[in-house]
Amino acid sequence: MKVRNLLLSAGILLFSLVSCAHPAASGYADSRYFAMDTVVTLRLAKDGVPDDALKSAEAGFEKRLTELDTLYSVHNEESPLYHFNHSADPLENADGRLVDLLHTASAVSLWSGGAFDDTLGALSDLWNIPGGGPVPVKDQIREALGHTGQSCFTLTEDGAVRNDPDAMLDLGAIAKGAAAEELVGLLRDTGVPYGLVSVGGNIGCFGGEAREEPFKIGIRDPDDEAGVIGYLYLRDGFVSVSGDYERYFEEDGVRYHHILDGRTGYPADSGLRSVAVWSTDGAAADALSTAFFVLGCDRSAERCSDCPYTCGAVFILSNHHVRVTPELAGSFELTASGYTLDPCE
Ligand code: AMP
Ligand code: MG
Repeated sequence: MKVRNLLLSAGILLFSLVSCAHPAASGYADSRYFAMDTVVTLRLAKDGVPDDALKSAEAGFEKRLTELDTLYSVHNEESPLYHFNHSADPLENADGRLVDLLHTASAVSLWSGGAFDDTLGALSDLWNIPGGGPVPVKDQIREALGHTGQSCFTLTEDGAVRNDPDAMLDLGAIAKGAAAEELVGLLRDTGVPYGLVSVGGNIGCFGGEAREEPFKIGIRDPDDEAGVIGYLYLRDGFVSVSGDYERYFEEDGVRYHHILDGRTGYPADSGLRSVAVWSTDGAAADALSTAFFVLGCDRSAERCSDCPYTCGAVFILSNHHVRVTPELAGSFELTASGYTLDPCE
């Protein structure tokens, strides 16, 4: 069986939320969507799968994706989170998946000491990185930071209550991974033997145990949009990448990227260009990639083994060293020249 590559892509392409036909790699049916503010790709094994089963899997996938797009969005005016962020109303009777995600986000935030922080919506709104800035003045940053932190919200059994009227939730660092996990769960029951989903670079795979070879997942070179620095070989689970090249603007020759450090109020500067996290849990892979990007390589590698979620990481440092935690040491292959591979002790 030939192994196919799914290049981790976190490019921002403007497609509408419709599936568009793509020349499929042999043995696969590929489709592509725009949802959750990013590109979503689906790759399904089609050998031996009846055409109508494949079509029905793709239709079910698209329907669920549309639903998740609204459920987890903070930008869609129809979404429960948009309403919560822009009104004085509590979030009540929320969908159980959203409530669970808020609890997971809060737990990862506490575990990471706020490196991942879903309550920094006032700060990310101020920076407006996708809108191109500008760089806020220090007083604005100080003011916004005063409206972040877990104490700004109380989570309830069916939603959340805001304790600080100016605080806002931002699930941008966890929702795509959660969506990848739910979509993979859906696909497992469709009769398709194996496949891959990518929600803006948050990848989930299924059915790998039945394959002769593992899935081969390319990790993007931070300096080269079309290049990879190496590959992860995986049979199952989820991979999320956080990098300084994904969303950013430049002002006076300085790059301001989208991963914010809640201690300083500025884009994180921890010596990393990107970090890829594998986990058996999709939401955790996503949240941890953001947390690890903020914490930096050494502090993250120390924390990996005591993480409540099974996980491993590949760190790409600004000095062109690549470090891999023991959990992924046997699954990662460095292919790019100009990088040095070191294990994390
Ligand atoms: P990711 O690409 O998964 O690292 O997520 C980055 C997105 O999450 C940003 O575009 C912000 O919306 C939000 N965000 C930025 N910094 C943080 C942080 N430290 N913790 C949680 N969410 C963040
Ligand atoms: Mg993330």
